[in-house]
Amino acid sequence: MDRIERLSESIRFRTVVRKWEEFLKFHEFLERSFPLIHSKLKVHRINQYALLYEWNVGAEESLLFLAHMDVVPAEEEGWIHPPFSGEISDGYVWGRGALDDKSSLMALMEAVEGLLERNFTPKHNLLLAFGFDEETKGYMGAKKLAEHLENRRIRIKAILDEGSAIVESVFPGVDKPLALIGIAEKGFASFDLVAKGPGGHSSTPYRNAPIERMAKSITCISKYRSKPTLIGAVEDFLKTLGHFTAFPLNVVLKHPRFFLPLIDLFFSKLPTASAMLRTTMCVTMLNAGVADNVIPEQVTATVNCRIIPGETAKEVFERIRKIVEDLDVEVVRSEKWEVSDPVEESNTKTDFYQKLVETIEEVFPNAAVSTFLTIGGTDSRHYKRLCRDIYRFSPIKMTKNDLETVHGRNERISTQAYERMCDFYTNLMQKL
Ligand SMILES: [Zn+2]
Repeated sequence: MDRIERLSESIRFRTVVRKWEEFLKFHEFLERSFPLIHSKLKVHRINQYALLYEWNVGAEESLLFLAHMDVVPAEEEGWIHPPFSGEISDGYVWGRGALDDKSSLMALMEAVEGLLERNFTPKHNLLLAFGFDEETKGYMGAKKLAEHLENRRIRIKAILDEGSAIVESVFPGVDKPLALIGIAEKGFASFDLVAKGPGGHSSTPYRNAPIERMAKSITCISKYRSKPTLIGAVEDFLKTLGHFTAFPLNVVLKHPRFFLPLIDLFFSKLPTASAMLRTTMCVTMLNAGVADNVIPEQVTATVNCRIIPGETAKEVFERIRKIVEDLDVEVVRSEKWEVSDPVEESNTKTDFYQKLVETIEEVFPNAAVSTFLTIGGTDSRHYKRLCRDIYRFSPIKMTKNDLETVHGRNERISTQAYERMCDFYTNLMQKL
């Protein structure tokens, strides 16, 4: 069996959170597929389904590679090949997890197995940690793995997790492939807005009832834009963009601090770009009313916030309070919602980062490398107490269409891209 077939088989396991028996089968599959890893490395099962592989060469410090076994669910409808078929067809391996994140996991395993075959010994201890609930925030997998490493006082020098990829034709007017390394990660928090008032019969309505106040509050929050903040990771990214755009945009992008208001205006119609510059707030849930003829006594709405590094969940909470201050609406921190402060920027002067860049340049010679801000959440945030230098990067080229298949229909990876992924991790590990 070759590495493409093994990737294909890995996709056939429906490792969706709570289908625990599938995870156990997946473990067996890994054991079967990577005999050297399972005979030479120490394997720990953490919290039943998470896996930790330790390639301990007696070094003082360890480097940690992360991936996750779980995938988001998929309905069969609309797929060219069924989502859990792992079909190899037209130069692609098809199915849920082909991009997010079984390809990373399998390519990491292929790299280690291949190096063991060649009797290679790294200078650092190499650890692989695979969570099983990344898609539902990682509290059972990554969090427990991090606690395990912390309890054992294992010193982690750097971490590589999934993250931004090498994107092609994603930014308007930029043809150059951009290898984006996430060196910081936004935080998140949700808050509830609660409006209360006397109920009553809808035949005798009154002004400023809870629903009306809530509607005004939602309008205020939706219109509100936090002031733009330029963190180093984004500044570097904009400058890189500046090198590959035409006049006059290139001048603006090359001087992002000076032109920040203009850039912000230009980005205001591009939600992803705008989200790199600020904390965002989005009303995602609403609850009111029990009957068509009753004025509700209470209305609640939930605001989900994505917090830019440099700010805290507490500050954002205060900001929301200020926004709705005159509307007689209470802002509540609810136990229901997990809060995660942003992960601050990692150092780009580290040895690991330099080697990461070198490897990208070797394996993807025409890509320009830049730092980036990871807007979504990754498992790596659970490790932030263990290690300050966390890098989020997936060694794969992706177009806008490819990006849309992640968590969507027809997720697939080209066999060529997957082979390159395996080469990437192999090359990188050889340097460590
Ligand atoms: Zn993922």
